[in-house]
Amino acid sequence: MPRIVMKFGGTSMAGIERIRSVAARVMREAAAGNQVLVVVSAMAGETDRLVQLCREASALHDHKEFDVVVASGEQVTAGLLAMTLQGMGATARSFLGWQLVRASGTHGNARIQTIESAMLDEALSGGTIAVIPGFQGVSEDGRVATLGRGGSDTSAVAIATGVKADRCDIYTDVDGVYTTDPRIVPRATKLAQISFEEMLELAGGGAKVLQTRSVALAMRKGMPLRVLSAFEDVSGTEIVAEMGAHMERNSIAGIAADRNEARITLTGIADRPGAVAAVLAPIAEVGISVDMIVHAATAGEGASDLTFTVPRASLTVARSAIERERDAIGYAALLTDDTVAKVSIVGVGIRSNPSLAAKMFETLAERRINLLAVSSSEIKVSALIAEGELDLAVRALHTAFGLDAPTVAAGAAA
Ligand code: ADP
Ligand code: ASP
Ligand code: MG
Repeated sequence: MPRIVMKFGGTSMAGIERIRSVAARVMREAAAGNQVLVVVSAMAGETDRLVQLCREASALHDHKEFDVVVASGEQVTAGLLAMTLQGMGATARSFLGWQLVRASGTHGNARIQTIESAMLDEALSGGTIAVIPGFQGVSEDGRVATLGRGGSDTSAVAIATGVKADRCDIYTDVDGVYTTDPRIVPRATKLAQISFEEMLELAGGGAKVLQTRSVALAMRKGMPLRVLSAFEDVSGTEIVAEMGAHMERNSIAGIAADRNEARITLTGIADRPGAVAAVLAPIAEVGISVDMIVHAATAGEGASDLTFTVPRASLTVARSAIERERDAIGYAALLTDDTVAKVSIVGVGIRSNPSLAAKMFETLAERRINLLAVSSSEIKVSALIAEGELDLAVRALHTAFGLDAPTVAAGAAA
């Protein structure tokens, strides 16, 4: 019997009516002869609400207690979906993260190590539909751990690989992966297929339709992955290892936008070996990852400026980590800005065509958009700009790279 994982995001779990329609869809897959595991998110807005409550309770809270609070959203929807399925005549039960998902690393951003699949195997072979809360697992010290925002996608892929499922379907509030966020550009085009490596860069660049780690895991394990609408029966997007030869390809697959960036600039640091390391080491020590980095010597003065970006929510902690080391680092001024954003072009075409990066910068220049930092990988070029100019930048690049659909994308804004 084919085994499938179906993952439903927050919008499709928001309220009993929607949970009923999810249940009906799950029952259809079971009736079609599949063994079904369902991974669910908390109701839309619930995780934000829980995060806010933690902040109000204590600004510098214990991450383990934070996880106790924020993991609760998925427990509620898992139980509700299992009940709803039972009410519709199915055999279904929920499992919780502590029973199945072993995780390690920082609380609030834990990584999945293994899936205990024996109980799931037993349930599935007895005809039971397994409902599993996403976003949660159990840490090495036996406490509930969450997997970072958007982590239910990663739960779904990890469970799919753990139970050797035939595929993992991600049901969400858009009907597939588009050339850019259809909420920013209504003329974005739905992609029938996208390669794992391009999807990885789009997600890393801020396209939250899939959590980056879920794509990396599916790519590594060769797990077939699809993005589908939770509301409409239309074909979605397949994430594939190799694009079908028949697929007509634009050299740029898509444009990603990321508002989760904050900039830190240190001026007047010594222009000597080890200066950059002295700044970044205290940031790494507090578990914050740095994204873009620009380091430039000030001509003839023996001093240099260093600019880098960190996730916006980590700005305060990053700033105090540097200030604590001020004497050891030695700098003139520490400036921060949390009104910046990153725009990226992604496509395997970038590898062989240097004019694509040039075209990106020309397009931004024509719109008088100033570049605060630039970074690139083999198949991605990113620019840091003012947040207020992000939507304009995304639209301009989408048009410049010929990605606009001829008509408004249907189903783009569900
Ligand atoms: P879920 O709750 O189902 O996990 P998310 O809100 O995490 O849903 O992800 C879906 C959202 O991702 C869409 O509503 C859309 O606004 C956004 N998005 C960003 N980039 C893209 C893209 N390239 N294609 C499709 N959706 C995108
Ligand atoms: N509910 C969690 C979040 O909002 C996990 C998820 O939905 O993927 O981040
Ligand atoms: Mg999500």
